[in-house]
Amino acid sequence: MSAKVRLYVDHPLGAGQTVPLDRDQAHYLFGVMRLEAGARVALFNGLEGEWQAEVAEAGKRGGALTCVEQSKPLQLPPDLWLIFAPIKKARTDFIVEKATEMGAARIMPVATDFTNSERIRQDRLQAHAVEAAEQCGGTFVPEVAELQKLSTLLDLWPAERQLMFCDEAEVGQRLFLNVPQGETAGPWAILIGPEGGFSEGERKRLHKMEQAHVVSLGPRILRADTAAVAALTLWQHSLGDW
Ligand code: SAM
Repeated sequence: MSAKVRLYVDHPLGAGQTVPLDRDQAHYLFGVMRLEAGARVALFNGLEGEWQAEVAEAGKRGGALTCVEQSKPLQLPPDLWLIFAPIKKARTDFIVEKATEMGAARIMPVATDFTNSERIRQDRLQAHAVEAAEQCGGTFVPEVAELQKLSTLLDLWPAERQLMFCDEAEVGQRLFLNVPQGETAGPWAILIGPEGGFSEGERKRLHKMEQAHVVSLGPRILRADTAAVAALTLWQHSLGDW
């Protein structure tokens, strides 16, 4: 019988391994989901695939699970970063959740010239990524990086990483990634701007970058959260693991 509840744990997994539960996890499993001793839970830690585990101890403030057997191997996403300028809280949460479901390997908020939001709660966004991975059956949780300046990220840009630059100035053009179907992707990144779009200075710099592929996302201007999902879809379809 396989488990209905999936839980991310920051603990090694393996046959016979005991996994202690903290107060929040115990509350969720025994208070909210009403599991009892002997019930099955699927565990993953982002490193060792998914494991079926049994409730060994169920308490109000803690408990323990015992790993029984592996039910999925680790499935790593392609080496794809999603770089975006944070927008309003709920829409930023949406981007992190969708990027996790769509198979981004790293989620990187950046401050651009016209960024709406100067601060993020990295820990809260990381928790959203964990929840999204629990819900979508993934065995990997992308890291959500701390907010950094786009200009700093571009100063240190790795030579081998290609960049899908989604530029709203290209709206209505038929520009998409000029890569043969079926080609295997190396390191890539997608860049989505804020509500105010990119400044002329940023646009000039990005257009000059050797690794940049300037892309239109169709005949309409999309909101940044829609643009992130559309770009991830296009990239995964052309070069990714779909
Ligand atoms: N304020 C900008 C304007 O009116 O031109 C629109 C910015 S849009 C809301 C937010 C981001 O989504 C853009 O910076 C871009 O990265 C992406 N985006 C939206 N629509 C796009 C399109 N049709 N083509 C390429 N990128 C697009």
